[in-house]
Amino acid sequence: MTAAPLRTIVIAGGGTAGWMAAAALARFCGPGWRIVLVESDAIGTVGVGEATIPQIRLFNAGLGLDEADFLAATQGTLKLGIEFVDWGQRGQRYMHAFGDVGRGLGLLPFHHWWAAARAAGVAADLGHYSLNERAALQGRFAPFGGDATLPPLVWAYHFDAGLYAAVLARFAQARGVVRHEGRIADVETRGETIIALRLDDGRRIEGDLFIDCSGFRSLLLGGALGSGWHDWSHWLPCDRAVAVPCAHAPGAAPAPYTRSTARTAGWQWRIPLQHRIGNGHVFSSAHLGEDEATAMLMANLDGPALAEPRTLRFQAGRRDRVWIGNCLGLGLAAGFLEPLESTSIHLIQSGIARLLALLPADAAMLPVLAAEANRQAACEMEWIRDFIILHYKATARADTPFWRQVQAMVVPPDLAARMALFRASGRIRRDHDELFTEPAWAQVLIGQGWVPQSAHPLTAGLDRDDLAGFMASLDRAIAAGVAALPGHGDWLARHAAAREF
Ligand SMILES: Cc1cc2nc3c(=O)[nH]c(=O)nc-3n(C[C@H](O)[C@H](O)[C@H](O)COP(=O)(O)OP(=O)(O)OC[C@H]3O[C@@H](n4cnc5c(N)ncnc54)[C@H](O)[C@@H]3O)c2cc1C
Repeated sequence: MTAAPLRTIVIAGGGTAGWMAAAALARFCGPGWRIVLVESDAIGTVGVGEATIPQIRLFNAGLGLDEADFLAATQGTLKLGIEFVDWGQRGQRYMHAFGDVGRGLGLLPFHHWWAAARAAGVAADLGHYSLNERAALQGRFAPFGGDATLPPLVWAYHFDAGLYAAVLARFAQARGVVRHEGRIADVETRGETIIALRLDDGRRIEGDLFIDCSGFRSLLLGGALGSGWHDWSHWLPCDRAVAVPCAHAPGAAPAPYTRSTARTAGWQWRIPLQHRIGNGHVFSSAHLGEDEATAMLMANLDGPALAEPRTLRFQAGRRDRVWIGNCLGLGLAAGFLEPLESTSIHLIQSGIARLLALLPADAAMLPVLAAEANRQAACEMEWIRDFIILHYKATARADTPFWRQVQAMVVPPDLAARMALFRASGRIRRDHDELFTEPAWAQVLIGQGWVPQSAHPLTAGLDRDDLAGFMASLDRAIAAGVAALPGHGDWLARHAAAREF
């Protein structure tokens, strides 16, 4: 006898996670599935989360969203990377730009050739050989797929998270997703199986599969099912953010990159949208008071504030199990890493991809699918966690108690081994499913002043003049490529100017 098929999916929560899940399920599950979403207008969403990484383009493309319409509907801008200011040391900057940096030669990735050329005195900063970085700093953008001399430009987006959720909600509801507005007051369970959500007006919403997108509350996974919590605040002590939007400086076009500026006990983000700039100060409350953090933020805006600053509280960590019984958690309900590398929306996306890949046909297979999902989710989150910790650990700053603490902390053994490998040899270890690429690791390590102690022996194959010629040819190709791109503001105005849909 075969077990009963699972056919009704109930999504608890209508923030970015809930509506991304609803849109993807509506798009990819066949007509035999019923998708229901419950959200509470009174509770609302976290209201931040505006910077993404390039994988979001795959998500939007999978739904069939037109890029220009999507940007126009969300006040969106293009993002070519993240500039880090004052991280390695005060007064120093670098960019983690998307895409390739330079070009590998023979068996070696570019950063080895760059290190040899730098040691020979014939190379500029690493970022000078990134098409993305130079286009970003000159405020230029147009879709460019690469050619014989240049790698493609690789981009992500900045957007208004509320407007993105609205785009997805329209998409999902047009494809049959049923929305219930109301507050979930209770979760009915039988052992580790969720039976129904009970709303405070008495409605009861039954389902076969439940997706917890209830944000930091984690009503189903953390609440009803009691999934434990791995606290990572000893590695990532920032636990507060003050956020405020501001106007652009008069006449300024939005920059096509995010900026993260290190402060005395944390860092400040700057995310340019078409109609405003999103700003926030992420800080450790053990090292800095909220009033001081707010004053620091307000003193460092490009233009007048457009709203009152508001504070968000969080803790870095993850749920022990993100899938228990017939319930999977996505978004803030499943865990949280500070937005230093804009990874939270990506984690929602990859959680949805995992759900679709492991979509259960019947209840009997739930335990094995859940075990596999939990294994994958834990690895993914820990890889990203370690990359974020790297930014703190690899600092040379010792000017405040916060920076002294993070510089001295004992990091996870896997990260410690990677850092030691790089310092001694310039080699970068990357496990094949990992999100962050070798150029990403190289940019952060080198950008924060980590220079390998010895060059790769194969770089001896090029002498000083060859290295100089190689670097100069890359420089010329990138300069010409960037000069051919229009201004980011002009491109937006022509193709994706904000409008209502
Ligand atoms: C300071 C900060 C900055 C961030 N910046 C970025 C960034 O730049 N890039 C990025 O990728 N991510 C960022 N994130 C993360 C990003 O905001 C979230 O991943 C994203 O918004 C998803 O949130 P969510 O949908 O899980 O939760 P929420 O937005 O909190 O949504 C929760 C939903 O559950 C509903 N709900 C809750 N309780 C109930 C109830 N009892 N009954 C009914 N409904 C209920 C709410 O109404 C809401 O609809 C940031 C997060 C923080 C805290």
